Amino acid sequence: MYKIVSIPGDGIGPEVVAGAVSVLEQLSKKHCFEIEIEEHPFGGASYDLHGEMLTLATLEACKNCDAVLLGAVGGPKWEKLPHEHKPEAALLKIRKELELFANLRPAKVYDALLGASSLKADVVRGTDFLVFRELTGGIYFGHPRGFDENKGWNTMVYERYEVERIARLAFEAARKRDKKVISIDKANVLEVSQFWRNVVHEVHKDFPDIVLSDMYVDNAAMQIVRNPKQFDVIVTSNLFGDILSDIAGMITGSLGMLPSASIGKKHALYEPIHGSAPDIAGQNKANPIATIASVAMMFDYSFSLPGIATEIYQAIEATLASGLRTADIANPGENTVSTTVMTEAIVRHLGA
Ligand code: NAD
Repeated sequence: MYKIVSIPGDGIGPEVVAGAVSVLEQLSKKHCFEIEIEEHPFGGASYDLHGEMLTLATLEACKNCDAVLLGAVGGPKWEKLPHEHKPEAALLKIRKELELFANLRPAKVYDALLGASSLKADVVRGTDFLVFRELTGGIYFGHPRGFDENKGWNTMVYERYEVERIARLAFEAARKRDKKVISIDKANVLEVSQFWRNVVHEVHKDFPDIVLSDMYVDNAAMQIVRNPKQFDVIVTSNLFGDILSDIAGMITGSLGMLPSASIGKKHALYEPIHGSAPDIAGQNKANPIATIASVAMMFDYSFSLPGIATEIYQAIEATLASGLRTADIANPGENTVSTTVMTEAIVRHLGA
């Protein structure tokens, strides 16, 4: 039995999470496993109900389940609230409370959507790599930090355990893929990066079957757009990963296609990388694929059922190959389908 907490959130969140829940229900019928899905409010939806973005009840539920499925939070209605009451603060809080130290973002190009990339089809065809971004350390959290009239400062610090645990996850993931890890740093300039590199190489000793190489971050930014097929698994720090995972994501097409997983020692949270898209909320127009692909990541990383993850990716691929497009991935003049029609087609392709 898998216990999943679903937190649809705001805007298109409930629409895309409903799509992902239909996929979960279909898989549970098909493979005869039980799932229990418990829905909890979060973000603006929670604020309107309870006066806070993240209630203790939602947080406790997230801590006591096998995986969390999140839609998106935020929207104009709650933008004027003080910073500590904003949906973004709740998002940071939930990641911190669940100690989600690794953010995983796949960059996978679907053949049917080659035309949606800003790069040439020949360059992106066959791209399939995974970025491991360290999420709870580095310059975003280091002290001292601050600014005055004449200077501003932040501190980039990594502790050994922080580098070790993310390197280990990346090597383990590479074992199930093409067995290549590229660690990205700026060791030619930053001491903290030299330390990062040393620790990654130490951890590598436990993974002799994996090929490890290093790349400077400036070169990596260039290589991802020059020849994305050369990458299998990337592991990098919080700041570099923030930037590189956005570049990696966008070469594959629309925001509506991109899933993510945030993983800790005990907990994991799966969510599309897009926001609540207030401009199309409530119109049954949102692309549910990013959220459905996040469920595929859940099966892979939380439930160790990569076969089911593959089934989901194949159902998405077959649906796209049949020509169905939500508005965000349609070419001008092409017919488009709704969130529900796209979801139903993916569920159908999963089979009974
Ligand atoms: P956004 O990702 O919500 O939307 C950007 C553009 O992409 C919009 O035009 C939107 O219609 C489109 N889009 C996004 N997801 C789509 C989908 N699944 N299908 C079709 N089109 C899609 O980013 P934004 O407009 O900058 O932010 C809107 C709100 O979302 C803000 O309140 C922001 O704070 C919040 N936000 C939340 C998260 C999160 O919950 N993790 C992430 C980013 C932004």
